[in-house]
Amino acid sequence: MPHDIVTIPCLSDNYAYLVHARESGETALVDAPEAAPVLTALKERGWRLAEIWLTHHHHDHVGGVARIREETGARVVGAAADAHRLPALDIALPVGARHRFAGAPVAVIGVPGHTVGHIAFHLPGSRAVFTGDSLMALGCGRLFEGTAEQMWASLGRLAALPPETLVFPGHEYTANNARFALTIEPDNAALKTRAAAVEKARAAGRPTVPSRLSEELATNPFLRANLPAVKAALGMAECTDVEVFAEIRRRKDAF
Ligand code: ZN
Ligand code: FE
Repeated sequence: MPHDIVTIPCLSDNYAYLVHARESGETALVDAPEAAPVLTALKERGWRLAEIWLTHHHHDHVGGVARIREETGARVVGAAADAHRLPALDIALPVGARHRFAGAPVAVIGVPGHTVGHIAFHLPGSRAVFTGDSLMALGCGRLFEGTAEQMWASLGRLAALPPETLVFPGHEYTANNARFALTIEPDNAALKTRAAAVEKARAAGRPTVPSRLSEELATNPFLRANLPAVKAALGMAECTDVEVFAEIRRRKDAF
């Protein structure tokens, strides 16, 4: 792994991440829910912030940008399509772009659904993907702007990454997500094991992130709407993947 990644809990249940390139010493921040914990984490390590990568425009992901930028001079990087509603961008990235950071490629994956301009940042060299409020541990973001069809396609793009990829989401929602997932697949042994581990981690105050993509594929109901067993369990054997995904999302919204 050419990068060290530091998880920073922010606000009540958000995460920001520091991505530190070991060779060059450059550091990027993924999302800026608030400034203080980020500035403290940088100071503790003596790291200089070069870039701030934004997954989407919601306040709990960008609220700290102005102050962090002021204190560090970091460049702000985000989706070109959302430049009108993100903090002022120094680098506006189109979906599918290959950004470079500290000599390493960073792939910009379009993941509309939660918002239409939402992007994920994939670091193939470090087998890490930063997903914001698209794919989350055992869950996915609510559909505030996009359609179920868009989110299902977005999750499909993430699901196609190498299975060993580590998933770094924007929130600690895993315990609630696990309880919901068990209502969809009560007999999924891998899910039961994971749900128990999640409860234990949270009881000890430990983050449940990152998770392995392979783990998500085996246990996250939002990635499993295409499976005949899941469709059958919902009485939707004849339905399309998108219809089943939409039903799981609807149930979660009411959970
Ligand atoms: Zn959001
Ligand atoms: Fe959020």
